[in-house]
Amino acid sequence: MRLRNIPGARETIAESQWIVQDPASCKEKWKERFGNDHPVHLEIGTGKGKFINQLAVENPDINYVGIEKYSSVLIRALDKLDESQIGNLLFIRGDAELICEYFGEGEVEKIYLNFSDPWPKDRHAKRRLPSKEYLRRFAQILTKDGTIEFKTDNRALFDFAVDEVEAGGFKILQITYDLHSDPVMNEGNIMTEYEERFSAKGNPICKYILGRKE
Ligand code: SAM
Repeated sequence: MRLRNIPGARETIAESQWIVQDPASCKEKWKERFGNDHPVHLEIGTGKGKFINQLAVENPDINYVGIEKYSSVLIRALDKLDESQIGNLLFIRGDAELICEYFGEGEVEKIYLNFSDPWPKDRHAKRRLPSKEYLRRFAQILTKDGTIEFKTDNRALFDFAVDEVEAGGFKILQITYDLHSDPVMNEGNIMTEYEERFSAKGNPICKYILGRKE
């Protein structure tokens, strides 16, 4: 994601009604924050928010939280929300490394990772969102039957992610190396900004769905 410094982005984020300003205070209280009992689904590294915004519009009985590290990117997601005015989508401007400070044990039913940053250098492998280190964090906040969905066009990152699954405490429930040609896994697929861009170049999209090992 190319990052431009957008003047006033931090201030806009700090004042927005769609941003959870103190996510740690919502830990174990997300049902209260949303004002209902609906399950909570997360997208981590939400970027400009097209995917999660469309999901939230299509599924009003699910509460969505998008987590994004950079204000200059997240500000674009807020524009979409200002237009749609839905009540089941909130954002956190923060780092997924702190996810266990934001969500309690078993508080999340599903996690989406879409086109996560590849961090190509070996010494940065732990920063990759589908690494075993992150999977172990995700295991702490997911429900017993919780799932993780990851898609990317980056084959090297995907192969790495597949190798990390077991050590991260999960097993593969479904997998494809060409999502858009897989009628089962592609059903209802919502394209992200990156997915539109890279599939237009002819890159096949890889995807897996994980569940807990035991
Ligand atoms: N998911 C979007 C898509 O598919 O179009 C954006 C993909 S972009 C390559 C990855 C995004 O993840 C960037 O916006 C980046 O800032 C965000 N990101 C990377 N690491 C993160 C982390 N540890 N916590 C929160 N966001 C992160």
